[in-house]
Amino acid sequence: MSEREIGKQRRRSQSKQLLHCCCICGKLDMWDDNWSWFGSVKDLDDESAFPKFCSAGCKAAGGEDAYNVTKGMKQKAKDAEWRDPEPYREPERPRNYNDAAYE
Ligand SMILES: [Zn+2]
Repeated sequence: MSEREIGKQRRRSQSKQLLHCCCICGKLDMWDDNWSWFGSVKDLDDESAFPKFCSAGCKAAGGEDAYNVTKGMKQKAKDAEWRDPEPYREPERPRNYNDAAYE
């Protein structure tokens, strides 16, 4: 866990699974059978913002071919899946003779 984080990080669950954000209700959760998405494999490869739905209800709210989902909604959901890196702290090191010199 002492790896330095550089740049934005994907949000993950306690068990390190990726969290996904529903573009309709904003729920942030692990992917399961209730989730669906709309887009192409190219969207995945490009990591572009594409609609994700946490439930059948949200999918229905998104409309056919997700036509109710605006670019802004997709972007907002994608942004919610990322967080700023943890501030980096120097790893604890054993005390040595230099420490004594400053006390
Ligand atoms: Zn939802």
